[in-house]
Amino acid sequence: MSQAKIIDGAAFAAGLRGRVAEGVAAFRAKTGRAPGLAVVLVGEDPASQVYVRSKGKATIEAGMVSIEHKLPPEKTQDDLLALVRELNADPAVDGILVQLPLPAQINENAVIATIDPDKDVDGFNPVNAGRLAIGLHGFVPCTPLGCLMLLKDTLGDLSGLDAVVVGRSNIVGKPMAQLLIRESCTVTVAHSRTKDLPSVVKRADIVVAAVGRPRMIKGDWLKPGATVIDVGINRVPADEPGKTRLVGDVAFDEALSVAGAITPVPKGVGPMTIAVLLRNTLVSACRREHVAVPE
Ligand code: NDP
Repeated sequence: MSQAKIIDGAAFAAGLRGRVAEGVAAFRAKTGRAPGLAVVLVGEDPASQVYVRSKGKATIEAGMVSIEHKLPPEKTQDDLLALVRELNADPAVDGILVQLPLPAQINENAVIATIDPDKDVDGFNPVNAGRLAIGLHGFVPCTPLGCLMLLKDTLGDLSGLDAVVVGRSNIVGKPMAQLLIRESCTVTVAHSRTKDLPSVVKRADIVVAAVGRPRMIKGDWLKPGATVIDVGINRVPADEPGKTRLVGDVAFDEALSVAGAITPVPKGVGPMTIAVLLRNTLVSACRREHVAVPE
């Protein structure tokens, strides 16, 4: 039985980060300044703290300026909106990212809508969602854009392929579907109300799983040769008592003997998210300084 190609997201992300670093060096040479990414964290959620720390480290490694704002958990929505407006007005800031989730007293939608769409490197602002939907330049959420890069690197032209996106969140499923429509795929978006999900998945040349349920998509649901992008990050008990490990939304071991290519978890889609965030920040800086955006 043939085995699926493992799509090495970690290696692709490392290459992308290297290209971003070269782009940053060229940008500095032309403009005399480095692109700046502001990351705002409210509260002490441990997972968010880890994400913010690794984003800051990657930003500095790419030669950019990392501006971190850590606010106590009791901060009000007005305080946060005031900070976002300050960052919108700061010429040294090219990208703004507010780490989600936010504490209950703060309305996430209000915060996201306040970020200047032209500094919204997470691509969550409704203006950028609209731009993506109608094919205008904007910022596309990092995770689905990273998935698209891996798909194009694996398959080349995606035109005419049947794609099934499982999950319809605003940050992964919906923008992923928009990107695949833009690539001329025939796109189906499945979700918790979809009837007979196995047969929906079975017709797909491309499966993007963004559900958040460990190993939900089974090997025998897949069309032989399908390309599988597993966005899911799920922590499950490991074999060793008391330990945990990460698995995706796809039953990886089963899928290996059916799929043509598949991303692993970890080291698949995960590393792409930060790499694309850096790329989006460089693109923002180039647009704001009217410098050509590197390939
Ligand atoms: P959400 O919880 O926002 O969305 C999950 C989606 O899955 C919903 O649309 C939901 O349907 C659908 N769903 C839930 N149960 C089923 C089911 N039984 N059958 C079919 N569809 C179902 O999650 P996110 O989009 O934010 O994230 C999805 C996964 O991706 C998570 O594991 C998350 O950790 C991971 N992730 C990974 C990232 C990375 O960097 N690699 C970045 C972002 C997310 P409905 O709308 O009907 O409720």
